[in-house]
Amino acid sequence: MGKVLIIGCGGVASVAIHKCCQNSDVFEEICIATRTVSKADALKEKLQSKTQTKISTAKVDADNVADIVRVIKEFNPDAVLNLALPYQDLAIMDACLECKVPYIDTANYEAEDTNDPEWRAIYEKRCEELGFSAYFDYSWQWAYMDKFKEAGITGILGTGFDPGVTSVFTAYAQKHYFDEIHTIDILDCNGGDHGYPFATNFNPEINLREVSAPGSYWENGHWVEIPAMSIKREFDFDQVGMKDMYLLHHEEIESLAKNIPGVKRIRFFMTFGQSYLTHMKCLENVGMLSTTPIDFNGQKIVPIQFLKELLPDPASLGPRTVGKTNIGCIFTGIKDGKERSIYIYNVCDHQECYKEVESQAISYTTGVPAMIGTEMLLKGLWKRPGVYTVDEFDPDPFMEELNRCGLPWVVDENPTLID
Ligand code: NDP
Repeated sequence: MGKVLIIGCGGVASVAIHKCCQNSDVFEEICIATRTVSKADALKEKLQSKTQTKISTAKVDADNVADIVRVIKEFNPDAVLNLALPYQDLAIMDACLECKVPYIDTANYEAEDTNDPEWRAIYEKRCEELGFSAYFDYSWQWAYMDKFKEAGITGILGTGFDPGVTSVFTAYAQKHYFDEIHTIDILDCNGGDHGYPFATNFNPEINLREVSAPGSYWENGHWVEIPAMSIKREFDFDQVGMKDMYLLHHEEIESLAKNIPGVKRIRFFMTFGQSYLTHMKCLENVGMLSTTPIDFNGQKIVPIQFLKELLPDPASLGPRTVGKTNIGCIFTGIKDGKERSIYIYNVCDHQECYKEVESQAISYTTGVPAMIGTEMLLKGLWKRPGVYTVDEFDPDPFMEELNRCGLPWVVDENPTLID
C-alpha cells in the first residue's frame, strides 16, 4: 500500500518498525532514518529476512530541515513517522511541508534549549495566558494548521498511548456512550519491575522533565496548576493491584479540553513507587535534572543529558521487566438524560511484549499506536489537510486495529470513580 519514512530508531521506533514489518500489506517499504545509522542497520539485519516489507536505512540530522528534505527526496515516502524526540517535531514538520508529505508523531513539540531568550519570551507569555508552565504545548504545532491545509497534507499529532490511545478512547466514548462527557480521568499505571534501583522506561531526559514539572488539570474552562506530586490517589488497577498515583500535567489534556464539548474536568494520573520518587527528588535537589549547560573541566555539559548516559538504556529494560501496564480513561457524563460512567483501558504484559518484539510494554504501548495511526493515514481513513490530534478522527477503525495488533481494550460500565 505505501512507503513510510520512520525517523528515529530508539525504543518506540523499534516496536513501530517490528509492527510495520508484521503488516507488510500496508507497509510495503520503510526507510529507517536516524542519527546513529548503525542502530537502524542492525534492526534491518534482524528483520529483513522475516518480512515482506522492504527495509532501507539512512543517516539524518533531524534538527536540520535541509538534511530531512534530502532524505525525504531520496526515498519519496507517502508519509513521515516522527519517532525521534519532541525537540525535532518542528524541523520535521517544516521538511514535510517543503516536500508536501503527510506527518505523524507521538509527542508534542518541546524546546531543547529552554534558556533561548526568543523561545523563553513566547513561553512566559503562554504561561501567563493559559496558566500552565509545562515546557511543551500544542501551540507550536497547531500553528501549522493553515500551512498544512494549503499544502494539502495531513498532520496527525500524538499517536502513542498517552497521548494517542487515551484520546482515541475519548473519541470512542463520545461517539458510542455519551451525549456529553463531563469528566475524564486518564490513569497511567506501570506495574512493571525491572530490578534496577532507578531507571526510566523511556528517554530519561523527556521522562524526568515531565515528572518533575508542576502538575495541572483542566477545570471549568481553565487550568489549575499545583506543585509537582502534590495530589495523590490510590487505585486498584485490574491485573496489577493497588497503586499510588499522582496528578501530572499531560499533553492530551490540552487537546481534549479544546475538542470535547461540555467537558468540565480533565485530570491525568500516573503511578510511581516511593523509591522512584525518592531517587528523583534527590537527583533534582543536587541539580542533575537541570537542562542548563555547566562548565566541567573546560567542557560544557548538560546535567540531565549526562544523567541519561549513567542510567540504564530504556531499550535494555525489556528482558528484565516483569509485570503489567494498565492505561485507560474513566469518563462520567450524560446519556439519554441519565448519568453514566465508563472506564476504557488496556492491560499489557511486559514479558509478552518482549517475546513478541524484544521491548518492554512502555515502548510497545507507544510503538503499536504509532504504527496504527500511520496505517489509518495510508488507508485514507484519517486523511484531512491540516494538523489534528487523534481525538479528531473516527475512532472505530483505530479501536479495531488495537484489538488486532496486540493492545486489546475493555469497557467497564461500572467503574470505581476517583474523588
Ligand atoms: P529514544 O531516546 O529511545 O529514541 C529517540 C531516537 O531518536 C533515537 O534513535 C535517536 O538517535 C533519534 N534522534 C534523536 N535526536 C535525533 C536527531 N537530531 N536526528 C536524528 N535522530 C535523532 O526515545 P523513545 O523511543 O523512548 O521516544 C521516542 C518518542 O516517543 C519521543 O518523542 C517520546 O516523547 C515519545 N513517546 C511518546 C509516548 C506516548 O505515549 N505518546 C510514550 C513514550 C515516548 P540516537 O540513537 O543517535 O540517540
